[in-house]
Amino acid sequence: MTATNRDTDLGATLPATTPAGVEAIRDAIRTRHRFLLTSHARPDGDSIGSQLAMAFALDALGKEVRIVNADPAPEHYQDFPGMHRIEVAPRVERPDVDAVIVMECSDLSRTAVAGLEGEFLINIDHHAGNHMYGSVNWHDESAAACGEMVFGLIQALGVELTEQIATHIYLAILTDTGSFHHSHITPRTFEICRQCVEAGVNPAVMARRVFDSNSFGKLKLIGALLDDMELADQGRLAVLRMDEQMLEATGSTHNDTEGLINLPLTAREIQAVVFFKITDTGDVRVSMRSKYDVDVRRVASEYGGGGHKNAAGFTVPGPLAAVRGQVVDRLVRAIAEGLESRP
Ligand code: AMP
Ligand code: MN
Repeated sequence: MTATNRDTDLGATLPATTPAGVEAIRDAIRTRHRFLLTSHARPDGDSIGSQLAMAFALDALGKEVRIVNADPAPEHYQDFPGMHRIEVAPRVERPDVDAVIVMECSDLSRTAVAGLEGEFLINIDHHAGNHMYGSVNWHDESAAACGEMVFGLIQALGVELTEQIATHIYLAILTDTGSFHHSHITPRTFEICRQCVEAGVNPAVMARRVFDSNSFGKLKLIGALLDDMELADQGRLAVLRMDEQMLEATGSTHNDTEGLINLPLTAREIQAVVFFKITDTGDVRVSMRSKYDVDVRRVASEYGGGGHKNAAGFTVPGPLAAVRGQVVDRLVRAIAEGLESRP
């Protein structure tokens, strides 16, 4: 990789967008030695990328690092560097660390890992509505991915951007921007990606690994989902539904549903998508995506969930029939409001 002075690099080319907060986190890390990293349940590319980038950076500083998540990472991330380091557990008995770094979680309960309460918590997140539950908190809604914040922190810690770290930062940004589709993408996003590529990341290979790694089961699931898709609001809203039988019939798994919600958005008319996933416990996990100013986070927050303007979710008790109608009506309203403010 090319050695550049990253401290001056970003400062020289960009406005001072790194918000106050990173220094407090940097100092909290410098003065501690043993860390446990965690992120949200059903981790995505941003949570995995942020955690592993952070883990490699902490290694470089000679720290002890443990990573614990409630759920395994999606299959197609398994051969990314350091994946074997992630422990999957619903609780940590006695953490015995100096700090727990929680990334991508607006609340500690989002980790679904028990036993972390009462630890020294370092909260790093970019979701709107973070509850500032940490002993130190760094919340930056303007970041396109938590991985952007981790990049800033790694820089502040003076750690070199190795190819391994860059791979995970790029993974975080590539996935959390929906492959550079969502809002919140800034010159800083591309500056960070530029530095990742300079450090050895190959964007074409990354895109293939992340987006072209489907199983045949997933391909069949795509067919079944789209076949079952319903349209509302004169074709502006797509409604997807998935249950255990559909997974069985197509030979796919829950993990295979990742990213499929974006498919209907490729139709020009569609402004928002809602995906109802009926879980084996009978709960309904609701995922939503939207274009431009259609704000699905506001809808999610009304149901106790969260996320971002263009990507949000929540979970409610079933049956689906009890919630479907009101969620669809609420989204139709969100679309009308979003279209009103469109230039
Ligand atoms: P998903 O549709 O599960 O990919 O989630 C989209 C976005 O919404 C992500 O940023 C999630 O972190 C967030 N999200 C999903 N479900 C919840 C929830 N129950 N509470 C808070 N945020 C959520
Ligand atoms: Mn994220």
